[in-house]
Amino acid sequence: MSAAGSTTALVVGAGIGGITAALDIANSGFPVVLVEREPSIGGHMAQLSETFPTLDCSQCIMTPRTVEVGHHDLVRLHTYSEIESVRRSDSGGFVVGIRRRAAYVDWDKCTGCGVCQEKCPFKVESAFERGIGPRKVIYTLSPQAVPNKPVLDAEHCRYLQSKWDMQAGRIPSVDKQGQPASPKCGACAKLCPTGALNWDQQDTLVEEEVGAVILATGYDLLPASRLPEYGGGELKDVVDGLAFERLLAASGPTAGKVLRPSDGAVPKHVVFVQCSGSRDPERGVPYCSKICCLYVAKQAMLYKHRVPDGEASVFYIDVRAGGKGYEEFVTRAQEEHHVRYLRGKVSRIYSQDGRLIVKGVDTLSHRAVEVQADLVVLATAIVPRVSTPAVAGLFGVAADGNGFLVSGDEEMAPVESGAEGVFLAGAALGPKDIPETVAQASGAAAKVLSLFLRRRMLETTAPAGEGMRAA
Ligand SMILES: Cc1cc2nc3c(=O)[nH]c(=O)nc-3n(C[C@H](O)[C@H](O)[C@H](O)COP(=O)(O)OP(=O)(O)OC[C@H]3O[C@@H](n4cnc5c(N)ncnc54)[C@H](O)[C@@H]3O)c2cc1C
Repeated sequence: MSAAGSTTALVVGAGIGGITAALDIANSGFPVVLVEREPSIGGHMAQLSETFPTLDCSQCIMTPRTVEVGHHDLVRLHTYSEIESVRRSDSGGFVVGIRRRAAYVDWDKCTGCGVCQEKCPFKVESAFERGIGPRKVIYTLSPQAVPNKPVLDAEHCRYLQSKWDMQAGRIPSVDKQGQPASPKCGACAKLCPTGALNWDQQDTLVEEEVGAVILATGYDLLPASRLPEYGGGELKDVVDGLAFERLLAASGPTAGKVLRPSDGAVPKHVVFVQCSGSRDPERGVPYCSKICCLYVAKQAMLYKHRVPDGEASVFYIDVRAGGKGYEEFVTRAQEEHHVRYLRGKVSRIYSQDGRLIVKGVDTLSHRAVEVQADLVVLATAIVPRVSTPAVAGLFGVAADGNGFLVSGDEEMAPVESGAEGVFLAGAALGPKDIPETVAQASGAAAKVLSLFLRRRMLETTAPAGEGMRAA
């Protein structure tokens, strides 16, 4: 391994965990390769409205970090990219192959002016907006995206699809007059002031040599389709926690107004269902998702800020608010914002005469309860990314039965993976809030830094050619 490679870190995943680790390492003078599969960085924190326990605006506290890491001289950012191959170098580091997906936009020419997005005539459902808002076919994830460069969704692009259909002979390449037909649309390319659209762009492969790795691939939410008794994802006004964050967010599809997805009306009664799939080995996952009690209290408070005459009810099994100021935060929701807490398990949610019926059992009185709601928010279980075990496996790191990454020593070395030179951070290890993710990411970065400093010391003190053997 080259001397530079031995003290370059690879961070996989650029959520708040990966960003924090990358900045800690780069600000200590060591290069970082940061790989993110989405077009821009930020992970789930970029989707949040305000954050517990301080109710700070999520974008406001995160943007300085995304901008810093995006412009850092020592950070090489690969977005829209994934790790494709890994091999150990002779001296114990890694050579990683990174595949960057074709964006059909030359990012060196693109100035991020946004004209292509504005003029694109086609909209599709946005995964970032959790299905409650659209995006254009050529898009950035959000107005604050870093990097602020768009990608084109080839599957839904009328121009590319018709171009490929003509090339494959599926549609005629000449028009009725016998003239060469041109693919439909292409508005983005016609109007781009710098000619940045590149219809022939292909995926590219790059190799990077690194001396240590931090895996920070984060989490997902249990799909609502796994909970058929709660509508199975078919009821428009039954949304998950991240969708409700987008309804609350000033940068979201409703500009921060809480509106029902089905008809745009202001919901006057919102019911939150905690443990939707968590602590439920039969239907969901056996473990506690740990952060839901807090974010539900936050969301109920924020709903009451937006709709002061609205009613918020929370179904809970028990409230787990372990963290500094967390118990007080939940109490504030109950006492100051009059959020109604119902100790009970919801058995069914269905729609009747334009309202939602939430049926359950009050586990204090052992009586059946039935509540009518305008909107239901499911605090669905936190699960690992489907791809995490595979990417971790490339580095020799194991995942547990649920798919979360496993530390080599859960008690005494929680950020060490057990594989030499590979460290772990954030919600990829299990459900975690932002403060815990950031603390763990700094812990992983400190481990990488101590490894690099040891190597640098050995390189400068050992006779020429012997330094890396000692690493
Ligand atoms: C509804 C809801 C509300 C919340 N509200 C709060 C709150 O108010 N306060 C709080 O403290 N916490 C809150 N949280 C928790 C918070 O979202 C997490 O603590 C935080 O996002 C974890 O950060 P992370 O970097 O570990 O993971 P993520 O945010 O999931 O980021 C992981 C990143 O890795 C990328 N990635 C994944 N796989 C790969 C791969 N193979 N290759 C490359 N990149 C990859 C992803 O695209 C993503 O960008 C909330 C969570 C939910 C669900």
